[in-house]
Amino acid sequence: MRWQGQELGVPDAGALPGLEHLSGLVQSVTTPDFAGMTFHEVLAKTALNHVPGASAMPFDWTVNPYRGCSHACVYCFARGTHEYLELDSGRDFDSQIVVKVNVAEVLRRELARGSWKQDPVMLGTNTDPYQRAEGRYRLMPGIVSALTDTGTPFSILTKGTLLRRDLPMLAEAAASVRVSIATSIAVFDDELQKIIEPGTPSAQARFDTVRAATDAGFRVTVFLMPLLPHLTDSVASIDDALRRIKASGAVRVVFGALHLRPGAKQWFMRWLADEHPELVSSYLGLYPGVSSVAPKGYRTWLAKRVRPLLRAHRLDGHDEDDQTRSSMPGLASRDQTAATVITTSRGRASTSTASAPAMLF
Ligand code: SF4
Repeated sequence: MRWQGQELGVPDAGALPGLEHLSGLVQSVTTPDFAGMTFHEVLAKTALNHVPGASAMPFDWTVNPYRGCSHACVYCFARGTHEYLELDSGRDFDSQIVVKVNVAEVLRRELARGSWKQDPVMLGTNTDPYQRAEGRYRLMPGIVSALTDTGTPFSILTKGTLLRRDLPMLAEAAASVRVSIATSIAVFDDELQKIIEPGTPSAQARFDTVRAATDAGFRVTVFLMPLLPHLTDSVASIDDALRRIKASGAVRVVFGALHLRPGAKQWFMRWLADEHPELVSSYLGLYPGVSSVAPKGYRTWLAKRVRPLLRAHRLDGHDEDDQTRSSMPGLASRDQTAATVITTSRGRASTSTASAPAMLF
């Protein structure tokens, strides 16, 4: 999907060879601290992305400081967006990261317009704002300041433990605007996590981050997504996941089955053939042809498996197919087809919604 502000301009005749479609390119950087990665620093023309009305996304505004993601989740459905840059959706997505170095300044200008209505803004819907590049570029503090100073409520979804660096600032922001924090943790077997989400912090490191956010006063939601057929969907696996989620201090869970969007699907199926060839035919049955969503029957079966366990662990939660909408102003304005996915707030109850952010799959 091409959202406003993420569209690529006409080919730039002055760009580096192979990057003619990356408008605003300032320089491409490699550094020993990030071996194997290249950061393409660009000057963005816009920071706020308006989600088209026809989109399934139930929120109106997003900010994405990075394109591509070093967390390198094999199943990530944002992979296909890298092809707009004439980079591939596989290894290039993991290692060729576009960095909008001026995103905070541009955002502040946009939020200062008289027409800005302080609608909630989602961070982390396309790629992870706390991926490794954030350690070098520190774009999030400027974004958080711009949002807070203009009275704009915002939500963050991440797998990154770098969030902890900004917790004091986020707690301060939450004194004046609604701030929601959610984290995605879905693979609890360390060996599996290392091969399917090779650039992510371990599940335990993410739980430590949830604990830190909880201690800072946030009511954190964990996205138990994507649950992987035959790999992470056993009762024992889900039970263990919910036990650890509860112990981390998180208050809420959103769960859902794997999506395999174009761009991610071929990458994931190649990975599956290498790592779990015995499951290939089963996955082809669940995700035949161009189908990117697990069959309704599987999703219903999964929900019936998870819900009693949620109750047993005394966790609030629902699956992504739930039609429940909550009342976070601005985010509640979209159609009822989307699932409620985040409810984290410091100091007072609030709910924001989204469906299928790339981060989750
Ligand atoms: S699923 Fe999220 S964390 Fe993983 S690669 Fe995609 S954007 Fe990054």
